Amino acid sequence: MVVGDVTTGTDVLIIGAGPAGYVAAIRAGQLDLDVTLVEKDAYGGTCLNHGCIPSKAMITATDIAHEAGNAEEMGIHADPAIDLAKMVDWKDGVVDQLTSGVEKLCKANQVSLLEGTATFAGENTARISHSGDGQGSESIEFEHAIVATGSRPIEIPGFDYDDEPVLDSKQALALDSVPDSLVIVGAGYIGMELASVFAKLGTDVTVLEMLDSILPGYDDDLKRPVKQRANDLGIDFHFGYTASEWHEEGDGIQVVAEPAQQATADGGQAEVDTEDVLEVDTERVLVAVGRQPVSETLDLDAVGVETDDRGVIETDSRARTTVDHVFAVGDVAGEPMLAHKGSMEGQIAAEVIAGEPSAIDYQAMPAAIFTDPEIGTVGMTESEADDAGFETIVGEFPLRASGRALTLGETDGFIKIVADESEGYVLGAQIVAPEASELIAELGLAIELGATVEDVASTVHTHPTLSEAVMEAAENALGHAIHTLNR
Ligand SMILES: Cc1cc2nc3c(=O)[nH]c(=O)nc-3n(C[C@H](O)[C@H](O)[C@H](O)COP(=O)(O)OP(=O)(O)OC[C@H]3O[C@@H](n4cnc5c(N)ncnc54)[C@H](O)[C@@H]3O)c2cc1C
Repeated sequence: MVVGDVTTGTDVLIIGAGPAGYVAAIRAGQLDLDVTLVEKDAYGGTCLNHGCIPSKAMITATDIAHEAGNAEEMGIHADPAIDLAKMVDWKDGVVDQLTSGVEKLCKANQVSLLEGTATFAGENTARISHSGDGQGSESIEFEHAIVATGSRPIEIPGFDYDDEPVLDSKQALALDSVPDSLVIVGAGYIGMELASVFAKLGTDVTVLEMLDSILPGYDDDLKRPVKQRANDLGIDFHFGYTASEWHEEGDGIQVVAEPAQQATADGGQAEVDTEDVLEVDTERVLVAVGRQPVSETLDLDAVGVETDDRGVIETDSRARTTVDHVFAVGDVAGEPMLAHKGSMEGQIAAEVIAGEPSAIDYQAMPAAIFTDPEIGTVGMTESEADDAGFETIVGEFPLRASGRALTLGETDGFIKIVADESEGYVLGAQIVAPEASELIAELGLAIELGATVEDVASTVHTHPTLSEAVMEAAENALGHAIHTLNR
């Protein structure tokens, strides 16, 4: 069937059905707006189909196998056999369940769903091109538009994702056999999460990172337990290297990396010492060097919306772009490129369009990295609070002093809480621990509510749990933790 050149109208046109766009659509539907949601690929976007959910499913499955095979101290002797194709099938089942749920929720909230690729054609007009059975295009007139087109993996020179041995994170999560060896370019959170997945599957993993440590932007004390665990898993690291090319070598490939060029004092670039060029033989190479916004495909000029030089659509605290009736949310609106940040922005955009006085507040925005152990952060670090002019107090509790951590066999890590000394308000927290992604929520709530460390310390926590360590860190900030020595 070919769809003719029809024109329809809508109050709110949302482009992209990832966690930013579909949440905006559902919220707009709840607010009785007439909403059309356009998606060119799959409901749920990167997060549900190729990102958060599949990666966490694979992390869970490989953790189970790894733990079962490494629990001799607990009297468990097992050597789990891994069927990767079956594991990937299970992961795909989880994804299908969630993406079909998104579609049902949208329909239940009176959101009109449209499959196709949207581009702007004027201040209040978009064109939707359909492929496959519904080939052709149609025009939509809109009162408001919300751009939620997300991001894509950055490609680096010499590594084309169309070449079979070269993988992006989406392709790496869909492999049906375990590679014997894998080079991962980039030690950011995606690279590090997938490094432990593959190491636990039995792959020889080598990580190449341009900078001098893993997880750029995170404090050293948070990274230390993660790096130690990665070393224990046999992951090989080369810091200060930039991957420059790959070529076929024997049965596999060889990845070539050069020392990362260091800036010289006069602003130039230091000479590369060619003797230090690194050559790593491997079966596959996964490039995970960050993501870039998808905005250049939208014909933003037609609607008058501006981007910065990275393609990020700039927005104000109400998710509005440089054009009043056009909003941008999620990865396309910039860092942090996290699903929950996009969903929050999507809800705000819908509420602003409905005339509510909502605004975005990033103060209590959490972040989690699902490495082994996990990292969770929210609010300010100690040095950020100092830079912001606060007199701070800090409370810390080591996991080795937690009864629950010992029963889990997971004692590497700590909980750290940063608070304002004069009033005691919680300003931030950093956690490295199993389930840090869950534990951090309590401290996000504390920031959101304007709670003090005393409030956290005097909240009775269930025993024995990891969350008791949050209470003890708060007590430590006040100088009276029970199960650790106080500063
Ligand atoms: C491996 C991996 C693991 C991750 N893990 C986490 C995690 O644990 N926690 C977390 O918070 N974040 C995680 N992320 C990041 C998270 O996936 C993104 O932040 C999130 O998906 C951004 O949501 P979004 O709605 O802005 O964009 P997306 O999810 O990218 O959705 C955008 C949608 O827009 C569609 N689209 C684009 N252009 C058009 C067009 N012109 N017309 C119609 N449709 C269009 C796309 O097809 C896509 O479906 C991970 C990402 C990856 C890659």
